Amino acid sequence: MKSHLLELSYLVGSVTFILGLKLMGNPRTARRGNLIGAAGMVIAILGTIFLYEKPISGIVVGLIFAALALGTAIGWLTAKRVQMTQMPELVSMFNGMGGACAALIGLIEYPNYLGNPAALLAILAGVVIGSISFSGSIVAFLKLNGTLDRPLRLPYYNFINTVELIGVLALTFWLWQAGPAPCPLLYLLLAASLLYGVLFTLPIGGADMPVVISLLNSFTGLAAAFGGFLYHNYAMLTGGILVGSAGMLLTLAMCKAMNRSLVSVVFGAFGASSKTTVAAASQGQGAVKDIQPSDLAVLLNYSQRVVIVPGYGLAVAQAQHVIHELETLLESRGVQVKYAIHPVAGRMPGHMNVLLAEANVDYGKLVEMEEINPEFERTDVVLVVGANDVVNPAAKNDPGSPIYGMPILEVDRARRIIVNKRSMNAGYAGIDNQIFYHPNCSMFFGDAKKALAELVSELKSLT
Ligand code: NDP
Repeated sequence: MKSHLLELSYLVGSVTFILGLKLMGNPRTARRGNLIGAAGMVIAILGTIFLYEKPISGIVVGLIFAALALGTAIGWLTAKRVQMTQMPELVSMFNGMGGACAALIGLIEYPNYLGNPAALLAILAGVVIGSISFSGSIVAFLKLNGTLDRPLRLPYYNFINTVELIGVLALTFWLWQAGPAPCPLLYLLLAASLLYGVLFTLPIGGADMPVVISLLNSFTGLAAAFGGFLYHNYAMLTGGILVGSAGMLLTLAMCKAMNRSLVSVVFGAFGASSKTTVAAASQGQGAVKDIQPSDLAVLLNYSQRVVIVPGYGLAVAQAQHVIHELETLLESRGVQVKYAIHPVAGRMPGHMNVLLAEANVDYGKLVEMEEINPEFERTDVVLVVGANDVVNPAAKNDPGSPIYGMPILEVDRARRIIVNKRSMNAGYAGIDNQIFYHPNCSMFFGDAKKALAELVSELKSLT
């Protein structure tokens, strides 16, 4: 009876994970999806503790609940405090913890399954993949929070990394067939896998970091799925498979959005040229025009179609509410306003959608890149707010540029381009942007929140 109930709790958990993931596909239902998935996780955890075939002693149950309380408190506080722009760091850290758990399960269970080749393979895979995911995620976290501020490449790093990977695989095979006695080389495998995670992530930089985080996320899912296989825990197995496949799909979707292959992300050297290009950016490429809030207010007031391009700067400035105010004000005066959403605008997939949803912007006004690009020709004013790389024509015109090939929002097709940012500084990819020097472009300098607030008050003063 107990075991049936346990399986039922896993089934409920698995169904809620799938349902939750489905609902997370749309900003309107994402919050509900998240709650449903979390509720399923609670059911699966409680089922494991109370319905497991072998009874767990009171002390162990106490310890489990103490750990759950501590983890929940840390997770809750961290998630409450984190800024939206720091989300990739948070995801990276949480992901690393998942990888560490999978590796620890492997270390603990290794001596218990020595005579069982299938279980042993799952354990070794969990140790290797979990450790790579853990150390790789910590390096990614340090890169994203600026502690490691540039890609670090050893000479012949691709060769060294490949040799290291072959070594890890060979050791895994050796341990798998080594025989019934526990082998201390397991700790060498752990160390080698941790080192590979570091070596794998260190050389990667620039705009490729989100792809790597998502890839590491999928590794963690895979490692967790091996744990589920080991314990016949179907909720863990389904959860792991979902994380693994969703992470891989997201990885491939981001590669597609940047028009880069996964191989070139992992073995390429994005950011190698960023030092020189930043220098070029700071030197500038000619004269730029600027525009004052009063003139911009008049321009927008007499436009028919306006497209807003939100970017990372909008998120940093927390200008989502004021941009929504601008949009409603313009609409009340008969101006049609849309938002152009680039798939990698901001610092995480879906960043702009989440940000604008927070300010209650109508989801129907958010238009994907492929759909909005043909509309720019009929657009009177494109207002770029804190975006840079996603509108950089070097991606189309300059084969030497590190972002060459990445599809962009083709704002140069519009009649007027207005760019709001604080200075002529480069964006995430560290490269200059020719769009600022375009004859139809004017710079609207200032912090997005302050500058837009000024613009709104100028607009209000127009009769
Ligand atoms: P960018 O990083 O290219 O540019 C942002 C611009 O915002 C900067 O040039 C900066 O200029 C400006 N800015 C910063 N603070 C403010 C502020 N307070 N007010 C106004 N402007 C401000 O952003 P994009 O969104 O165009 O492009 C995203 C980049 O990040 C891409 O290269 C993408 O590949 C990468 N990336 C994307 C991730 C994702 O999944 N979405 C994750 C990680 C990276 P200034 O300093 O002059 O103000």
